[in-house]
Amino acid sequence: MHPALAADLDRFDELLDAARTRAVAALRGLAERPVAAPAPHARGPYEPLPERGAGGAAALARFGERWEPGLSGSAGPRYLGFVTGGATPAAVAGDWLVGAYDQNVVAAGDSAASELERETVGWLRELFGLGAAHEGAFVSGATMSNVAGLAVAREWLGERLGVSVADAGAGALGEVAVLSGAAHSSVPKALSLLGLGRGALRAVPLLPGREAVDVAALSGVLAELEGRPAIVVANCGTVNTVDFDDLPALAALRERYPFWLHVDAAFGAFAALSPEHAHLVAGLDEADSVCVDLHKWLNVPYDAAVQFTRRRDLQVRVFRNAAAYLGAPAGDDPDFVHLTPENSRRLRALPAWLTLAAYGREGHREVVERNAALARRFGEGVESAAGSGLRLLAPVRLNVVCFTLAESPTAERVAAVAEAAAAGGEVVVTPTVYGGTHGLRAAFSNWRTGPGDVDRAVEALMAAARGV
Ligand SMILES: *Cc1c(COP(=O)(O)O)cnc(C)c1O
Repeated sequence: MHPALAADLDRFDELLDAARTRAVAALRGLAERPVAAPAPHARGPYEPLPERGAGGAAALARFGERWEPGLSGSAGPRYLGFVTGGATPAAVAGDWLVGAYDQNVVAAGDSAASELERETVGWLRELFGLGAAHEGAFVSGATMSNVAGLAVAREWLGERLGVSVADAGAGALGEVAVLSGAAHSSVPKALSLLGLGRGALRAVPLLPGREAVDVAALSGVLAELEGRPAIVVANCGTVNTVDFDDLPALAALRERYPFWLHVDAAFGAFAALSPEHAHLVAGLDEADSVCVDLHKWLNVPYDAAVQFTRRRDLQVRVFRNAAAYLGAPAGDDPDFVHLTPENSRRLRALPAWLTLAAYGREGHREVVERNAALARRFGEGVESAAGSGLRLLAPVRLNVVCFTLAESPTAERVAAVAEAAAAGGEVVVTPTVYGGTHGLRAAFSNWRTGPGDVDRAVEALMAAARGV
């Protein structure tokens, strides 16, 4: 063994203690850490590859000097950009153990890891109100969850047309229609990856003043397909205004038209945890495939999401990876290697298992309800503060506030507000365009955020608005 490795093997405990000390300091200071940090070595100069390593302790110290100061407080309570979760204490502990045990959840047989993932998928299915017909697996994020769901949808189109896409390729399908109201940008990306093409996505009109699809318009588009099977992507929680498609109405259209119903519920699925908001995802179980992110509102570290589908048989056709040394997909209970894009996989389920075991449905419901209440408070702050210089662009439906400058909200002025608020270290929000108006989004999905954070964020944004 190389002497540097042998020395670290002897001092493994000390190295982990040093990492722990560093992590504890970072987590204790998270609430006051600047929400955005400028990269200290943007575009170099990068250091050359070390010929002789420094050993674990010195390397850790070097990381502390060179990179650690540039890491942002994005896991903290006032990072309201995108839809960004933090990581609960149990989830962080779980993530550390993923590395320590370093299991490969490729196939069952020599470890309980696959069973742990199956148990966790079952808990998540229950959390979101899905029935036992939905089987699932962990993937790296909602983008890959959409890829997996749409890959199964693609195979279903083949089944309807009497071809195996997995064998013959997507070209065998001819022209494919993927219909959606306000699809997330990861959907066209997934269609590009799957060989269906970004051009397959057709935007269906939305209800007036909403981001939810107009079901009558969708019905009309489906009728024009004259019986040709299609894919419908329903959106449960749009990123601008957290609008929800009417799932029961969409599902009912399947009595008249053949289509696969994929639901992108990346963060909207968590509405199911809150009795006040659960009606927004009523009918989710009717979907043929469902995408839910976990590194957003479950507050587990990156990178984790889950995909569900009712047609595991088609999923295996797409992702099967049979080889003598891996075995063939076995009957009802195929190994994960036959279910997802990856071959080797980390034990992503462990942080989710631990946070659900630690806080239960009740603890995670509290996070969802608190985040929704904080979004409402933020919205009221923007609306009610006299001369706030800001105004709402849409009603606050769940956990995202879409707002803009009261006066002349040009792209430049709106971006300047976001930049000034982030540069002060106080709050990160993301620019967007909603209904043709440039605006900003503040998304609440972090378990740490409290009313004081909301008030600080609103004040920082008001001050920034006065300065542009
Ligand atoms: C965030 C998000 C995605 C993509 O998620 P990643 O985890 O970043 O891949 C897809 N759909 C919706 C609705 C989202 O909010």
